Amino acid sequence: MDGGVTTAQLQEWVRAFARSIEVNKELLTELDAAIGDADHGANMHRGLTAAVTALDEAGPLGPAAMFKKVGMTLVSTIGGASGPLYGTFFLRLGGALGDADPVAPDGFAAALRAGLDGVVARGKAEAGDKTMYDALAPAVDALDAGLAAGEPWAAALRRASAAADAGRDATTPMLARKGRASYLGERSIGHQDPGATSTALLVAAAADTLDRAPAVSAGGPGEGTALR
Ligand code: ADP
Ligand code: MG
Repeated sequence: MDGGVTTAQLQEWVRAFARSIEVNKELLTELDAAIGDADHGANMHRGLTAAVTALDEAGPLGPAAMFKKVGMTLVSTIGGASGPLYGTFFLRLGGALGDADPVAPDGFAAALRAGLDGVVARGKAEAGDKTMYDALAPAVDALDAGLAAGEPWAAALRRASAAADAGRDATTPMLARKGRASYLGERSIGHQDPGATSTALLVAAAADTLDRAPAVSAGGPGEGTALR
């Protein structure tokens, strides 16, 4: 089936995201140092490392149970705002996916939107608040638009990743209205949002993993994708 996403691919997505966070953790921390408290890289790295360990120990799980494990692990290991936000994202994503293997492209897109809705339910962010929402929402919209236009799955995923990157870049001139960066008021302007940056990595990892059969994963540190 064109674009059916298997449970193995979904798991590889989480592992690829973890590798990308590892590669980019200094950048995420630098970005958070400018408008927050310099812990976003460490937070995400700690959380994703624990999530991968939890997956290694759990053995085979369906999508719902797998993302529940990932989400709960992030909530319990990340102290900052991003723990509950990413945790809720993965919990809602898994809940919407259920136990389908493979899941059809439109089912995955709907689950991604459920994850986005979870982020909003948790953090109340709106477009333009300079948060992870500003990368995630355009990605979800772009995936829907690509599928509605009849694009091949891989192309729709790439479109979503490009939209997340553009959304991340668009946070730079924004004035933060949510989270720690909002305490800075006008001084938050001119800095790229750390959470939008990690979210763009999440979507890039999806584009890298969800359209092809996963390589046999050892779960160790791998290549990852460094940002510019
Ligand atoms: P903390 O701000 O507690 O130190 P992190 O540094 O790990 O947590 O994460 C900061 C990121 O969390 C921000 O860059 C922003 O993208 C995201 N964020 C903060 N508050 C919200 C919110 N209410 N809704 C969505 N995202 C948010
Ligand atoms: Mg922080």
